[in-house]
Parts: sequence; structure tokens; C-alpha cells
Amino acid sequence: MNEARSMTRSDAVSRDPELSVVAPVWNESENIGPLLERLAPVLDSCVSSFEIIFVDDGSTDDTLEILRAAHGADPRIRAVSLSRNFGKEVAIAAGLDHARGAAVVIMDADLQHPPETIRTFVARWREGYKNVFGQRIDRAADSPLRRLLTQRFYRLFGSVGETSLPEGAGDFRLLDATAVAALRVMREHARFSKGLYAWIGFKSIGVPFEVEARAHGSSKFSYLKLTNFALDGLMSFSTLPLKVWSYVGVAMSFLALAMASFYVARTLIFGVDVPGYASLMVSITFFAGIQLLSLGVIGEYIGRIFAEVKRRPLYLVEERVGLAPLVSDDCGPPAQRDWT
Ligand code: UDP
Ligand code: MG
Repeated sequence: MNEARSMTRSDAVSRDPELSVVAPVWNESENIGPLLERLAPVLDSCVSSFEIIFVDDGSTDDTLEILRAAHGADPRIRAVSLSRNFGKEVAIAAGLDHARGAAVVIMDADLQHPPETIRTFVARWREGYKNVFGQRIDRAADSPLRRLLTQRFYRLFGSVGETSLPEGAGDFRLLDATAVAALRVMREHARFSKGLYAWIGFKSIGVPFEVEARAHGSSKFSYLKLTNFALDGLMSFSTLPLKVWSYVGVAMSFLALAMASFYVARTLIFGVDVPGYASLMVSITFFAGIQLLSLGVIGEYIGRIFAEVKRRPLYLVEERVGLAPLVSDDCGPPAQRDWT
């Protein structure tokens, strides 16, 4: 079937390409040239036709000018420029909305995801896998603290999340058009793509790859951003943080009952005894703390519900380079307009 697919798509500039590559970019002007130099020959060697869609996530440097020039030199290089920085997860969603390939590869633009691995991705896809994910074999490119926190997070997610994440799997992956269609209908704002990729299922397989050092510039993710991202992930895929307060409440009620019985018995045996200021203060502050904490957790969820019910578009497009505006189709978001 794929054989036939590649034959019918060989002359595709106007037609849908066999493979779309989606790369979110935020101030990556130095990396685009080196990436294209390595990526284009790889794609030429393994698919019959391709497009590379850069999603300019509100860059403030000359990333967009470089992309326009790249499109002028090779029309298969295209770009969607978002109206501001919406974050990598939303940028990927914008790229997937615009990708027309029979398969889509998602990759970072900083050369940390080696383009050569795409050959193996395509080979696995042709074997019938629809969700081919890159699995990083070591995280030497990250700082030891980030590695430790990442490992802890995955362990926690594995035990409380509604889906389990394959070890070392991230955004670098190939998705068949059917899997992309599934992702397109998920318009949630608190996006945790890694969870969504796992949630959609489809025949999946991992392809190990070694993460390279960032070519130019530094990581766009601070520890604060990563913490918020981790919270988004946990809260989008688990309600355990909400449920846990019911258990804490039950445990505390039993404790209170036990204490009440103890004090009643003590009063009956030894008579009334008033001292207890210290224990009162401790229990008041302790329970006030617990209540605020549980309210805070509930607040986090309500905040996320609020963000979703506003039903704002996921992103706004300021400019498209070599790409047509989205048209409504089965798998797109409801009534796609120019501002989806
Ligand atoms: N990125 C983006 N929007 C953002 C943050 C990052 O489009 O708000 C892009 C960035 O340009 C890069 C990719 O996402 O192509 C991965 O970012 P980065 O290398 O900073 O992340 P890390 O490798 O540290 O996880
Ligand atoms: Mg990177």
C-alpha cells in the first residue's frame, strides 16, 4: 500500500506530500540553516516527496525572514507564524493542523533530534507502525538536576497518570496521518503532548536515538516552565491530586474520633483539666494548612477548567508562508477559520 502511495505522490508540489516534518521554532535563526542542510538530504533519500513546516512561535529575532528566504529557495519549506509565543506544545498543534503528509515527523529545530533517525522512523512506518517514537538512550545533554527531576516526574506520572509514558519518549516521532487526525481533534489548552501521543494509542514502536548537544543558543525551558509543564501533565492525565483529599479527610476524621474518645475517657477518669494551649494551636495550624493545600489543588483544576471553557482558539496565525489557510475537514477543529 505504501508502495502505491509513494508512486502516486512522486510529482507532488501541488499534491499532498508523502512526509511532512513539523518543527516549532522560537528564536532559532542560527539553527534553521544547519538543520535544513542535514534534514533535506535525509528526506530526499527516504521519501518520494516532503514538506518541512516550521512553526514560528512568536520569534523576536529574524527567524521569520530566514524562513521566508528558505521558502523562496525551496518551496517545500513552509512556515506558519503565530501571533505571539504560545509555547512549544501549541506550536506543535499548529504544525499538525497544517501538515498534509501521509505521515508527519515532529522534531526540535535545534539539532538535538538527529535528522538521520527519520530514515528508521520511515522504515518502521512502512512496516505498518503508526506511532513511531524516538527514545532517547541517554540524557547526557541535560543537566544532572533536570535529569533527576525528569526521572522522578516520569515515575510519578507512571503511577498516577491514566496512561503510561514509554521510557525516554518525547516529541521526536513519526505519526501516521490517522494518528495526526486523532490529535487534531484534541483542542485542549493545557497540552501535554507526550501524554496525548500515548493516549491515542495506535500501533507504536520505539526507535532509540542519541540526543545531541544543542547546536546554537540555549534551552528555552527554565525550571519554572518545566515545573508548570509537569503540573499540566499530571493534572491533564490524573485526578488523583483531587481524590487524595477525600482519603486525607477520612483519615483525619478517624484521628479526630480517636482523640475525642481519649479525651472523654480521660475527663471521666481524671476530671476536667484545661491546659492544652500548645496542642490546640498545633492542631489548628495543621488543619488550616491542610485545608489551604487541598483548596489550592482544587483551585488548580478549576483554573484549568476555566481556561478550557473559554473555548478560545488554541493559537492565532499572523502569516503563512507557502501554506493555504485551513479548510474545514472531518478531523480538523470545529469550523476551522483562519484563526484556528
Ligand atoms: N520552542 C517553541 N516555543 C517555546 C519553546 C520552545 O517553539 O515556547 C521550540 C524551540 O525553538 C525548539 C524546540 O521547541 O525548536 C525545543 O526547545 P528547547 O530546545 O529549548 O527545549 P529542550 O531541548 O531544552 O527541551
Ligand atoms: Mg533543545
